[in-house]
Amino acid sequence: MIFDKTRTKIVCTIGPASRSKKTLAKMVEAGMDVARINLSHEDHPSAKKTFKTIRSVDDSIPIMFDIQGPKIRIGELRTPVELESGQEFTISIEDFIGDEKRVSISHKELPNDVQPGDMIAINDGIVRLQVKYIQGDEVVTEVIHGGVISTRKGVNIPGIELSCRVPTEQDCRDLDLAAKLEPDFVALSFVIDHRDVINVRNILKSNGPSDAGLISKIEHKLAVENYHAILEHSDGVMIARGDLGIEVPIEDVPILQRDLIREANTWAKPAIVATHMLESMTHERVPTRAEVSDVANAVFDWADAVMLSGETAVGVDPVAAVEMMNRIIKRVEPRLPLVNPAEITSPKRMIVEIIGNLVYNAVSLIPDQVDGVITATRSGFTARWVSKFRPPVHIYAVTLDPRVMRRLRLLWGVHPVHYGKHIEYVDDQVRESVRAVYAQGLISKDKDIVFTSGTRNIEGKTNIVGVFHVRDLVE
Ligand code: PGA
Ligand code: MN
Repeated sequence: MIFDKTRTKIVCTIGPASRSKKTLAKMVEAGMDVARINLSHEDHPSAKKTFKTIRSVDDSIPIMFDIQGPKIRIGELRTPVELESGQEFTISIEDFIGDEKRVSISHKELPNDVQPGDMIAINDGIVRLQVKYIQGDEVVTEVIHGGVISTRKGVNIPGIELSCRVPTEQDCRDLDLAAKLEPDFVALSFVIDHRDVINVRNILKSNGPSDAGLISKIEHKLAVENYHAILEHSDGVMIARGDLGIEVPIEDVPILQRDLIREANTWAKPAIVATHMLESMTHERVPTRAEVSDVANAVFDWADAVMLSGETAVGVDPVAAVEMMNRIIKRVEPRLPLVNPAEITSPKRMIVEIIGNLVYNAVSLIPDQVDGVITATRSGFTARWVSKFRPPVHIYAVTLDPRVMRRLRLLWGVHPVHYGKHIEYVDDQVRESVRAVYAQGLISKDKDIVFTSGTRNIEGKTNIVGVFHVRDLVE
């Protein structure tokens, strides 16, 4: 293989530490594949500016808008306060500046949504309260695990289905912005079931012709229960371990990570593993050994992508964090095992999946001879079903549309290559696609490639696989 980019992709959250042109350019150089703008922390003018800067630095980098969903936050506190285990603490839906006795909350339905005995977690689950009783606008609790809370910290109420769903009013405003700027992906926080995904898709469509890929963040107990239907309606998922680790027992997270990726993989939908991957690099220049292992294990779990949050958004050295992630992935990928296609075949029996399986088999029969899989793809559909079998070579997806090219960048092993003309017939597709990939120096003349596409290059009509010697097509 001449081309040495990682096959597991790197998603970076862009924030104050990384939104300059110079830093972004270095992050691309270091291996960033997708840029995430977290609308929980950005207002519209700053999101727009960041969006334009990313596009101006490298317009082949896909941009993901992450909308906040019904994330609950406590209100303002005069100063950070320490809550003692055993004390009483009141949460109220009125607006006021809080103290060590009471705090206001953004979720105005709270008194209706909770019952005595329910747990309320604040600040990433560090502080835990148990509801004692509800009195009018106030929820009175006992502090079970004390700790420090401060202004606008996140709140989780594990396992409870809240009356508020994605898209919230704020999400709708953010979706308006998405309709204007046309990010390549929109990530939806706190999805509960597939209807949330459908609702967001309808809003995006009614606002204009948005083809953004919808990434459902799995961070609620009910999303885990409703995972299958959510997956069916989404273009990908994020294992959002930050909130997930509060909503379900924390020891369940590694197993869920594996199982959720595997199911996404079966249905050829990309899965992103997120949160705390190199967390200590937010403050330090080296990660902990456990963090390095965590990234490696996500690669072994066959994640399509691993994500950096605070490390790149507000960290001391965002470029170092991307470089570190890139190094870990590169070290691990040569050790990835071959998959057993039968184990991850979907029950649907689609032709495209049979083709994906055949491509995988062709490559694994002659791995030393093959320099890559080349697919001519209009919508990216074929590339997805080839990627799902994790063939041990790069997948070059030759396509016309720059938006499709960007979306393909999230997929495991897929490297998009631009070809300026629509190619109708298969003979031309093979020749022109191989030439386009060769012209970029990605494959060698002395090797073979495995080609796949549809005889007429119609979406969803992938039906041929061939093995070709590169020299025969480029000379
Ligand atoms: P967040 O989502 O960073 O938007 O909270 C990721 C997570 O919860 O892990
Ligand atoms: Mn979250």
